[in-house]
Amino acid sequence: MVIEKLTPRLARTMFLIFGALLSAASLPLPAEAQMGGFGRKGMGGGTEAPADTVEKRDHAITATGFTADFPSGFECEPVASPFGSPYRYDGSKRRDDRNSGLHGGMDLSLKEGTPLLAVAAGEVIARGEGGRLEGIFLWLRHAPADTGLPYWIFSKYQHLATPPEFTEGTRVQVGQIVALSGATGTAGGHYGAAGYPHLHLSTFYGPSKEYTARGMYNSMLQGKGAVPDDPLILYLREVSDLALVRGFSAENKKIGVAVVGEDGNVHPAGSKTVWPVHCKEN
Ligand SMILES: [Zn+2]
Repeated sequence: MVIEKLTPRLARTMFLIFGALLSAASLPLPAEAQMGGFGRKGMGGGTEAPADTVEKRDHAITATGFTADFPSGFECEPVASPFGSPYRYDGSKRRDDRNSGLHGGMDLSLKEGTPLLAVAAGEVIARGEGGRLEGIFLWLRHAPADTGLPYWIFSKYQHLATPPEFTEGTRVQVGQIVALSGATGTAGGHYGAAGYPHLHLSTFYGPSKEYTARGMYNSMLQGKGAVPDDPLILYLREVSDLALVRGFSAENKKIGVAVVGEDGNVHPAGSKTVWPVHCKEN
């Protein structure tokens, strides 16, 4: 059975977070984590996740408890509402008719026109304008080689100020400016007429580069076998299985995040994934 072949690999799995090496032995490995990881299934055997897995995961958004830890000397726009949070940036409770009231991405409160950066190298695969709650959007697809993580990652930037100039198929580099933040799709409802200028960044992790577009605006891309999860997972190193990230102990939930300074340089140099906005160097 597949599990027997994979367990030794799992046992060897090391988590490297910004130099902090955590042995798998220090992490609880719940039975369901060993049984259910699509990452191992997908990357190892190429077995396709059943369609209902995606549905189940859609309704099982859960917070990781991760927080972003920026390099010393840099001041960065923090997460205003994390993945899986029942609250908006202003502390109000989200409506429970979407994702059971839990946040499907992470929000950064940003002035309109703030340059948004590619969180990793990748390819522009879709852009357009959705409706309310979505606004102008951009999708990037990141190959495992782009991020150093064993998944195909689909990232979606929402509420952009203007349609991104990049056309589908364009290759972007890590930290490259790909869009300007805005408030499109946020006016009305809770945020009133003015809306809420911010970036909503959501990320989807899967075993395949393939995807299909769905929704009224063809804006909801579904990576084959991909599931939504915390964008802060982008900044982990060598995580073999998403199911394991919820086993991190409290002290290991501060995730070291690489950043791009206002001079355009990546810190630490050579990092494959970066914060989606420039950080100020003190
Ligand atoms: Zn959001």
